[in-house]
Amino acid sequence: MAASKITLGSPVTDLYGIGPEAARKLAKLEITTVYDLISFVPRRYNDWSDVQSISSAQEGEQISFYGTVTSDPVRKGYKKQSPVSFYAGDGTGRIEVSFFNAPYIMDKFRAGDEIFVHGTVSFYGTRAQVVNPFCEKAGSGDGLRLIRPVYNLTAGITSNMINRWAATALKLVAGQIPDIIPPALKEKEKLCDAADAYNYVHFPKTIDEAVEGRRRIAYEELILLGIGMKNFMTVGGPDERAPVVIPSSGALPADASARWKKVISNLGFKLTGDQKKAITDIEHDLMEARPMNRLVQGDVGSGKTAVAVLSMAMTAIMGKQAVLLAPTSVLAKQHYDSATAMLEGSGINVALLLGKTKASLKKEIKEQLRDGEASVIIGTHAVLTDDVSFKDLALVIADEQHRFGVKQREKLLISRDGSDGINSVHNLVMTATPIPRTLAMVIYGDMATSVIKQKPAGRKEIKTHFLPFTDGQDIYNVLLTKLRKGEQAYIVCPRIDDDSEEVAPDEYYYDDFLIEPLKEPVPEPVSVKKMKQRLDDRGISSEFETAVLYGSMKESAKLEVMERFLSGEIKVLISTTVIEVGVNNPNATMMIIMNADRFGLSTLHQLRGRIGRGDKQSYCVLCSDNKNERALERMKLMCECSDGFELAGKDLELRGPGDFFGTRQHGIPTLRAANLFTDAPLASAACDAVNELLDRGGEEARKLMDNIGVMFRLRFADKMGNL
Ligand code: ADP
Ligand code: MG
Repeated sequence: MAASKITLGSPVTDLYGIGPEAARKLAKLEITTVYDLISFVPRRYNDWSDVQSISSAQEGEQISFYGTVTSDPVRKGYKKQSPVSFYAGDGTGRIEVSFFNAPYIMDKFRAGDEIFVHGTVSFYGTRAQVVNPFCEKAGSGDGLRLIRPVYNLTAGITSNMINRWAATALKLVAGQIPDIIPPALKEKEKLCDAADAYNYVHFPKTIDEAVEGRRRIAYEELILLGIGMKNFMTVGGPDERAPVVIPSSGALPADASARWKKVISNLGFKLTGDQKKAITDIEHDLMEARPMNRLVQGDVGSGKTAVAVLSMAMTAIMGKQAVLLAPTSVLAKQHYDSATAMLEGSGINVALLLGKTKASLKKEIKEQLRDGEASVIIGTHAVLTDDVSFKDLALVIADEQHRFGVKQREKLLISRDGSDGINSVHNLVMTATPIPRTLAMVIYGDMATSVIKQKPAGRKEIKTHFLPFTDGQDIYNVLLTKLRKGEQAYIVCPRIDDDSEEVAPDEYYYDDFLIEPLKEPVPEPVSVKKMKQRLDDRGISSEFETAVLYGSMKESAKLEVMERFLSGEIKVLISTTVIEVGVNNPNATMMIIMNADRFGLSTLHQLRGRIGRGDKQSYCVLCSDNKNERALERMKLMCECSDGFELAGKDLELRGPGDFFGTRQHGIPTLRAANLFTDAPLASAACDAVNELLDRGGEEARKLMDNIGVMFRLRFADKMGNL
């Protein structure tokens, strides 16, 4: 092994036994460093400590027993790899213990050995056996570990592997874990020491010990998030600097009101009361001498784009610049098109900046931003990474915030021109994700919220149906009915092609499997390419233009497909969840989701939000051949409930306790021990205790802050870029 010292931040490949292939798989679980590995808390435990007698063995049931080896192991065949078995008894009965692919068993056990066995019982005739069980000498080494951790997994990684690696890692770094919990809090909450906590969660002697370890790590996580976000991230932090000043109405340019009227008349619809309210909130904030920090929360289709564009128009009319950031180029382009239409004739220049924008054009656009010629700029995070400077930037809007990391916003704010600092622009965040208030406080600091609840007038409720199959004439029939009326459709599939590993962002498969063994196998998912083939084979593609869209396509190809879909040329768009966010085509009235059981409720609701955007009746069809109860329960909920806020709540509920709540989709770093939704009150108590100690100042406070900084970077900051 490498002679250099292994630290918490060392890559996992520094550990004995982890090669590049394993590291690649671990990265999918967000494990890249030694610290990631030790803080990867098991999602639940199998308790093997409930010992039974051999005579109680039942076909197909699990059994744990202590017994004596009654005969030396024998090899049942001539090859070295032939199965090996022996008998064991406990006074109540006898059972055969067999092993495949384990020649070492021949030398490991002898008649007379006292053993512990855990495995699944099978019978042949009247004889009971356990095949490939967990089997160890009783009383050996560190004692038997009968509480077995079960981790969140990905293909090719088992719980045993993670547990073994965590053991290796902990031996090397246990002494290096700084204690970030103030003594007073530790005492009050009876929390154990850091190093113990990690040992307890990975190698508990009892379930209580595991719970104790987890509780301590949960406190750590909440402190890191709460204190770290405010002190080591620039967003949401306290800021005394004044924002770029927007003149109050008295000092408005002479033509301001005429230009505003023009923008409003361009809208082509009447704003809903909630939209108006949000815009008024924003207007007030913009006039304040304090930077705005506001969240606009509105269910899909509630009309957040209009609010964003009007806020930018307001800023531009007052002579300042505004930026709108979208998570994908498809969405940025779409916003650009709406903004151009809404701002036409108002004298406001709109620019679009994407990653793929040609270098020469980029240069030109950047100049327009620097000299103030363009006052509304729409782009993806490419805008953030390039060094862009503005003449007079006053407002930054992030649309569908949950799709990007805090770090990226931070980059933009830093790269703005001048030295007057990072928080001195007004900040507006648009999201369809209902983030609980307490949680928003932890993530964004003190944010004001505007909620858009009303739907634009004339909307018909989307009808949602469930079809218990993924290939059947019914699917094509419903599709054709819509297409023949001149309407358009989306078909969403969980995978690109049959061998691609790309899966739904919050795939449920492992969840179901780990919480309770699946009664029925989960069918293979239908891929985008397979679906396209089906439409081709059935002649649908020759009657109506069909096309595919997925994340790894070239940006230009994606934009082209999207444009042809929006213009009505392409009738059926077969895609992955890339269209989950924001895409707006009011003529699309059908959303067919293949293997819908693989998606979380929040994702399904986002997808469904792509339709029902015009005045025609829209239909969402959920197709799934998964027969498992939990999957069917989710489908039923989708058919019955159309309220995004309610579904998000249910989503969390259904995922069950001790689960990780698919926080990724909320743009919140994945937590490993704490449950952000239920532990948020705990978070504020923990952070208060830390702040109290920090406020006292002195050496102790300084050290604590340093430690929190180190741990925060290890645990969260370095990961936020890829949220
Ligand atoms: P989201 O909140 O999901 O971002 P969008 O801003 O994309 O929703 O708006 C969805 C659709 O509703 C768009 O076609 C938009 O033009 C339209 N829309 C927005 N506000 C209104 C309104 N007040 N009346 C009618 N249609 C509206
Ligand atoms: Mg939107």
